[in-house]
Formats: sequence, structure tokens, C-alpha cells
Amino acid sequence: MRDKKEIFYNWLAQTSSNPIGIEIEKAEGVFLYTPQGKKILDLISGIAVSNIGHRHPTVVEAIKKQLEKYMHIMVYGEVILSPQILLAEALKETLPPPLDNIYFVNSGSEAIEGAMKIAKKMTRRHTIITCKHCYHGSTQGALSLLSDDGMRRKYRPLLPSVLHIEFGNEENLSVINEETACVIIETVQGEAGVRTASTLYFQKLREKCSHNGALLIVDEIQCGFGRTGFFWAFQDYGFIPDILVSAKGMGGGLPLGAFIAPQHIMQSISNNPPLGHITTFGGNPLSAAASLATMQVIKAENILQNIPFKQALFCSLLLHPLIKEVRAKGLMMAIELQKDISISKLVSLCLENGILVDWFLFCNNSLRIAPPLTISEDEIHIACNGILKSLRILDGSYSRFHKDYS
Ligand code: PMP
Repeated sequence: MRDKKEIFYNWLAQTSSNPIGIEIEKAEGVFLYTPQGKKILDLISGIAVSNIGHRHPTVVEAIKKQLEKYMHIMVYGEVILSPQILLAEALKETLPPPLDNIYFVNSGSEAIEGAMKIAKKMTRRHTIITCKHCYHGSTQGALSLLSDDGMRRKYRPLLPSVLHIEFGNEENLSVINEETACVIIETVQGEAGVRTASTLYFQKLREKCSHNGALLIVDEIQCGFGRTGFFWAFQDYGFIPDILVSAKGMGGGLPLGAFIAPQHIMQSISNNPPLGHITTFGGNPLSAAASLATMQVIKAENILQNIPFKQALFCSLLLHPLIKEVRAKGLMMAIELQKDISISKLVSLCLENGILVDWFLFCNNSLRIAPPLTISEDEIHIACNGILKSLRILDGSYSRFHKDYS
């Protein structure tokens, strides 16, 4: 066999000119292992996917059990598949009324597409309002929602009538009017570098959408499924969206997404014309079984209850002159660094020190931290020591320290 790196760099399409490029042979809990035996603490969870760690035994067991019965049959809501039924039942328990109807898809972008289509069909309007520095996916509809011109420019024409407002700015809500089909908003902005808004903001947003007959669509693809310490992040802000969008952590490590709405809203895609949204693999039985097992683990291991303590521990340990601030909503965190720090250099240094961290799409002064929610107290110490050591190497104090004491 040819060298794997050669195949990776030459035969696999690259998404950037500078991929991390390490090979992973095995992953277990919060650790990744290279074929050379290097152990890497995963502080990004495949970007908020492996919320209960890698290969949790309960999830592995559930997938194996389902594998013994069947894999793909037919989705499209035509056939009764018990992994989907059980998952829908469990999800419904987490959802406030009237959110009671679930459409499973394969990914976050696809779920956003479905939600947008419903909004256009239900309201017969086409103006969509989103936030500056938002991220909702890479398909052409989802890409149209972004404000970042660098990402959109070369793919025009995209969807028309997309307006951008400032996330968290109450005055900007005045643009919502009777021509607005929907507002699509992340409850906690991820790629903007972990940005939160106030409870009052979300309540005013809810009010403004209801008053104008616009649908409020919340994107919890990154911040949902326990990431913030609430099963759904919107539960901390006292409002209920019209459509909730989920993916990433939802699949427990397998591909799964969903858009969730009250039945009367969801029905708009089942008639006139029927098959308003269809997807060959959405709600795949293996993914559904993994998702249900993930939910069971989150409940059985009291994972949400421990998140405030873990968040506080990270924040108390991440103290260094080069760290300007740590923004955190549960275990969705951004470490903002002083101006002149190269984030890509810091990411590489952390990796050398056995810690996998990442950068954000729209926040070039911050480091992304989104560990598995199962990370232990000891592992948080290891993680923070690795980051601090990398910062000391960067500012030159680490080698001085060693000269002094060796
Ligand atoms: N919305 C948000 C908030 C996301 O973080 C992502 C993925 N980074 C998406 C949508 C798109 O999800 P996917 O990559 O599964 O299409």
C-alpha cells in the first residue's frame, strides 16, 4: 500500500491548504491515539459531535444490537422503524409543547434547508433574517444565510432577500416585519467565537416574530444536545422556537440531524405538493439507535448536572497573561488571546503537547474548546496544563522556566 499521507494529500479532496494531517488509529473516551502511540486529548469532539466521548460502550452496544436486526430499509416516513420511533419518543420528552413533530435528516445543513423550506411554504414569504457572523451550513441555501462575504462571494447567485442583524442587539429586531418569512438564529453563536445574548433579547425576538407571523428557527446544531449544560440551549432563555434544528452531537458519532416543529407547521411539507422534503438516508436506523443511546447516557450519568462545575474549573485554570478572556456557555468555550498571538501556531503547539484544539471560522483571535461533556476533573487539569504549557512556549517563558529549574 502507498504511504497514507501521500494518498491523503493527493487523492482526497482537501478543504484547506493546511490540514492538521495526523492519522488517528483509535479513539476512546476523550483520547485519540495515533499509530505511533501518541495519545491526544480531544478538546473539540469532532466539533461538538462526540458529546459523550468516543465509542461510549452504551452507544457501541446499541449500534451492534441494531446491526443484528437491520440497517437501511426505507426512510421518507413510509415505514415504521423502531429506532426512529424510540428516538422520537425520547426526544419528545425533552421538548416543550408545541414542539412535537420530528423530521430526521443526515446533517446540520440539510436540517437548515428543510426548516427554511417550511418557513417559505408556511408564510408564503421569502425574506429571511439571520445574524452577522452566523454559521448555518455549507449547502447553497444554508450558505446564503451567512454574512461572511469571503465564504459566499464565489458562489453567487445565492438566495435573495437575506437580511443580517446584529446578534443580541434588541434595536435591530425592528427589521422583522410582515414580509419576514423567518428569523434563523443560533441560540449560542458558535463560529462567531461563542457569543451569547440575553434572555430579554430572545424573549423580544420571540414576541416580534409572533407579532409579525414570522417563524422563529433556532439552530442548535452546535449548542444543543447538552453542550451548554441544558439539553437544548433555548431552555436557559425562557422562549420556545417554532422550529428547532439539531445535528452534530445528536448522532452520538454517526450522521444524524433533525428539524423539529409543531405538527401543524410540519404538515406543510407533506401535502400540496407531497414530499416537500425527502432524504434517502435521513434517520438511518444505526444513527437513530446511537442517538437514543447517547440520550440515555446523558441522563443516566447525570452529565448535564456536572457541566457548570466543569465550565468553572476550565475558567479558573485558564489563567495566563496572553489570555484576554474565556467565553463559555457550558462546555462550549472560546479562549480569546491577546492581539498578536497566532492562533494556528498555538493550535500546532497544543497538538505537539498532546492537546487537540481548533480555531473558529469567524473569530480569528480565539481558540475553540468543546471537549466531550464526559471529560473528568483530572482530564480538565491535563487539558489546561497542555494549553498553558503551549502559551509559555509561545511567550518564551517555558524554556526559561526549565533552564532555571533543571
Ligand atoms: N449550524 C451550525 C451552528 C454549525 O455549527 C454547523 C456545523 N459546523 C452547521 C449548521 C452545519 O452542519 P453540517 O456540517 O452537519 O452540515
